[in-house]
Amino acid sequence: MKKYVAVWGAMFFCVICLSLYLMLETLNTSPGRYNDMTAESLLNFERKIDGIERDIKHNEEIIREIKGAIKEVSKDDHESMGKLQDIVGSQNKKLQENFDQLKRLRNEEVAKKEHNQNNVIEFDPINVKSGKQDKTVVERGFPVLRKPVSISQAMCSWSEEPTKKAEIQMEEVFESLPFDNPDGGAWKQGWQVTYEQNRWNAGNKLRVFVVPHSHTDPGWVKTYDRYYEDQTRHIFDNMLEKLEKYPKFRFMYAEMSFFHIWWNEISEDKRRRVKKLIEEKRFEIITGGWVMNDEANTHYFAMLDQLLEGHQWLDGTLGVKPSAGWAIDPFGHTPTMAYLLRRSGFNNMLIQRVHYAIKKYLAKNSNLEFMWRQNWDRYGNTDMFCHLMPFYSYDIPHTCGPEPATCCQFDFRRLPGSSYSCPWRQAPQEITDNNVKDRANMIIDQWKKKATLYRTNTVFIPLGDDFRYDKADEWDKQYVNYQKLFDYINSNSQLGVEAYFGTLSDYFNSIYEEKNVKPGLHPNGIPTLSGDFYTYADKDDHYWSGYFTSRPFQKNLNRVMESHLRAAEIIYSMATTLSRRQGDSKNFPASMFMEMMIEARRNLGLFQHHDGITGTAKDFVVVDYGNRLLKSLKAMKEVIKECALYLSIDDKSKYALDQADPLYDVDEQRSAHDALPEKSVISLGKIGDSTPRSVMFYNSLAYSREQVVKIYVTHPHVIVKDNEGNTIQTQVEPFWNEPGDISTEKFKVSFRVTVPALGIVRYTVTRVNDFANTQNSISSVLIFNSDDDGKIKSPPFSVEKTKGSDVTLENSHMKAMFSGSTGLLKSILTKDDDKTHDTRIEFIKYGTKVHSGDRSGAYLFLPDGPAKPYVDDNPPIVTVIQGPIVSEVHVYMDLITHVVRLYNSSGIDGVSLDMQNIVDITSTMNTEVAVRIRTDVNNKDGEFYTDLNGFQIQRRKTYEKLTLQGNVYPMPTMGFIEDEHKRFSILSANSLGFANLKTGMVDVFLDRRLNQDDSRGLGQGVIDSKQTPSRFRLLLETRSGGKYNKKQTSALPSLLGHQTSLHLIHPLYVIPSRQKHSSSFPSQTSLSPMKTELPCDVHLLNLRTMQYRDDGPQRLQPKNSAALFFHRLGVDCGFPNKGLMCKAATGEVILSGLFSDFRTDIAQQVSLTLMYEEKDIDTTELLDLEPMEISSYVVTLQ
Ligand SMILES: [Zn+2]
Repeated sequence: MKKYVAVWGAMFFCVICLSLYLMLETLNTSPGRYNDMTAESLLNFERKIDGIERDIKHNEEIIREIKGAIKEVSKDDHESMGKLQDIVGSQNKKLQENFDQLKRLRNEEVAKKEHNQNNVIEFDPINVKSGKQDKTVVERGFPVLRKPVSISQAMCSWSEEPTKKAEIQMEEVFESLPFDNPDGGAWKQGWQVTYEQNRWNAGNKLRVFVVPHSHTDPGWVKTYDRYYEDQTRHIFDNMLEKLEKYPKFRFMYAEMSFFHIWWNEISEDKRRRVKKLIEEKRFEIITGGWVMNDEANTHYFAMLDQLLEGHQWLDGTLGVKPSAGWAIDPFGHTPTMAYLLRRSGFNNMLIQRVHYAIKKYLAKNSNLEFMWRQNWDRYGNTDMFCHLMPFYSYDIPHTCGPEPATCCQFDFRRLPGSSYSCPWRQAPQEITDNNVKDRANMIIDQWKKKATLYRTNTVFIPLGDDFRYDKADEWDKQYVNYQKLFDYINSNSQLGVEAYFGTLSDYFNSIYEEKNVKPGLHPNGIPTLSGDFYTYADKDDHYWSGYFTSRPFQKNLNRVMESHLRAAEIIYSMATTLSRRQGDSKNFPASMFMEMMIEARRNLGLFQHHDGITGTAKDFVVVDYGNRLLKSLKAMKEVIKECALYLSIDDKSKYALDQADPLYDVDEQRSAHDALPEKSVISLGKIGDSTPRSVMFYNSLAYSREQVVKIYVTHPHVIVKDNEGNTIQTQVEPFWNEPGDISTEKFKVSFRVTVPALGIVRYTVTRVNDFANTQNSISSVLIFNSDDDGKIKSPPFSVEKTKGSDVTLENSHMKAMFSGSTGLLKSILTKDDDKTHDTRIEFIKYGTKVHSGDRSGAYLFLPDGPAKPYVDDNPPIVTVIQGPIVSEVHVYMDLITHVVRLYNSSGIDGVSLDMQNIVDITSTMNTEVAVRIRTDVNNKDGEFYTDLNGFQIQRRKTYEKLTLQGNVYPMPTMGFIEDEHKRFSILSANSLGFANLKTGMVDVFLDRRLNQDDSRGLGQGVIDSKQTPSRFRLLLETRSGGKYNKKQTSALPSLLGHQTSLHLIHPLYVIPSRQKHSSSFPSQTSLSPMKTELPCDVHLLNLRTMQYRDDGPQRLQPKNSAALFFHRLGVDCGFPNKGLMCKAATGEVILSGLFSDFRTDIAQQVSLTLMYEEKDIDTTELLDLEPMEISSYVVTLQ
């Protein structure tokens, strides 16, 4: 009987074990946690199948033994025996079923892979070079890329639909013009303008608006503050006094960065009087952005943000809504600006700096006013009325008419005796009863000549210049003399003219009145135009293509700060909403952070100025901008880090901001505004310290993402655990103090992380004994061209010296081949089709012209001929790092440190090559350096594509007639070339110059150092060079469908191109813990704030907490509403898009379904800068997001 009980016990034990085992297996094999199966999961399948097979055999043996034993013990107890046999049999059957199911799943997976051979890479075992360290390197497979996501048919149909063709297409204009620059006489770049004497008469008068204005740069040859103190404040003071004194005078002004300072300083009485002038339309705010932004280097986030900041300030403080755009000084113009203004509720805009040959061409056909249409527009609903100024400059000599010598005589600030004079040696004369007739005829002649270049009987005559009207007597001189002219002209109707002071809106409204249409509608007879106005030349071959790259260090700092501001806006909006909900808003420093955000918005806005991001200010002004950007960058890192911490704490009442002794560190430090960032190093403690340190990762994109990250630690042997506590695979790389010298204090650890949309995850890193963690691989290290003999000894790395032989980096998607002598990329093999693609990287340099007087400077690129290869005398030291997570080649040249990296990732970082450079040309003179990539893409006819402001793509063409410098274009985020079969894109983390000078070849300018001024007013060269970082992704895509349509002027990036660019510009934010707080972790290890993440073709441009009026007591208190911006991306469906973790590209968003922890119940669709409410939104319904459009909403968050 004893034996009987023992057997029963054994059997029950066996059955329970089996049941538990089955439960576990069922959990682990349930499909659908991810849509895709990685190679690792396939490996897991194999392992599990083997395991269960073994277990089944083992179980069968046990069962046989038990059966035997039972027969022996209880021959009489048939009933129990039967029951037992049934139980054991059924468990064994379940085990067998489980085994079969697993096998089926595995086979299905293999079958799917075979079926989708075009899309899915074969599982490919790797042979990581072990560097003779047997136990440290784990043999592993490459993670297979995630499968393509689907793109809605509506998007694909839209992308292939023809655009609504404009009457004038800038591409055709470029094709047709000779760019021959003949001398036009008095109007040098035009012609001898004439008009019929009877064209205007008493019954058909020419209406003239003389429009006083002052152009105030918020930083150029003086700093922003200095300009305000010295000049701008006086302009405003005079404006108030003189407009009140002269009721017929008018004035208009654009930059809120200056105006808001003055507003904060003046009395309530003065504010009331200013408002009155605005209400009476005697003082007009035009554009009303924070600055008059540059349009070439700027990214549309920052363009919109500075416009929004200006408009919010204006609307909130003065109740003013501008409606006319004014951009007289940006060096070339983009249709993106027309779009942003249009969608902000503007009716008109004015631009000025356009290539002189194009101005002449448009002027010849009276096409200087046009409806500017986006070249992706399918329906013609983006048209924006635009006035282009016809002549060389916006100063008075070049605005009253075609003859500057005459016009200058009507700038009464230059009356004899003043510090200004006319360079044409014909001075202005005070207007008297004696000369008024002659002088009136002189200026009327100019006005009429100018009017022939346009299609209406109204002519626009600006009256201003840089920092004009800062002296009281200029107001008097201009007013008194012009009013005398007007009085004479208006009382002599046979002159056929009526003239007044006016504003920009007065002018545009007069045209609408004349054409009998409502403001904002298309006036009859005005042509449509599409395209952009790059690259600008003001005379001869003086192309302003240098500034696309000037001061690249600050261009980079700007973009870094910009993405931090966006990331901070979003996480702050979430954190402040939760703190309000919890009722513990005292703990959370909402006002303090709000103040930091407002300052950051304004510092970013300031730098978008056309002498800021352009790199065309004096050295000390660049320092001033740099310090502002750095201050706000640090502030945004603080906001991101604290909001992430606050969000991850379960009990929010426990949160306290401790600035002296914070729990978490920022990811990197910058010691000065011009210093390279240094990554924070996580201190892992001494031997035996096994306390885990934590690292948070914040994803500011509204899609989940999976990618490789790199952190710095003090010890090479570590365990990294993910947010669920699983030990994950890691790779340790050396930190080079300099080539050949490996740090013993700092190590880099790479691993893959997965972070939810807008989410935060917390991983831990723990020091372990040497080689105790087999999941941690020590990178193999090769060094080429090093002088040292023997091995570099730096445990745990063993550095192998080698020479000559080429190097291959490989992942599941590609092999990248590098020259063993130069370390530079030679070709890429794509594994999908087993094709090798020439992709040769080299570096080139330019000098500047030596024989003529004009040489390259901050604005101009005037090269001394074609580029020369940049090669050092000695071959560069090259190091190669390889391992299971990441492989990289570092090349150390005299002026450039160049890194190309390939990730082993199933995310999109596994599809492209990462390229980073640090350029230091401080030791050179008159040098420009560029990276050149030669590919075998057969882009015919010199056609290529660059983006405009990261918002849209413009097709371009290289022409010999434009000279080399005229073929350089701005590249804020991407450029690509393509043929019928493939597309090669270079995606950039910041704005630089781009050219495609030969078939298959792309050049990206990296830095420029010019020793002289280029005569555009700056008065200095550009010699404040820094160690300058740049970062790119090289993406090679094979066309698999869709239309290759080289006739379409607006190409679209692929979904992968868009997403790769977004990942590059918005990196994961790394937030490491500080050593001493290693154990006080917040309680949540993973946070997914989004209930539904956005589809792949919708980008969350911003979630920006609204501010109360800026001059009121609540200015720092966040409102309970936020501005929500979506950009529906336009996608070319003809390319596969592997690696994406986002859901399908459907464009479908429902506001109420967005967030898990708070509600967005009240929402209004609004104009882009929130000035106009368009309609109430039912938050439970699908939003109407059109391709390419940005949609904005004000939502309450609670
Ligand atoms: Zn300016």
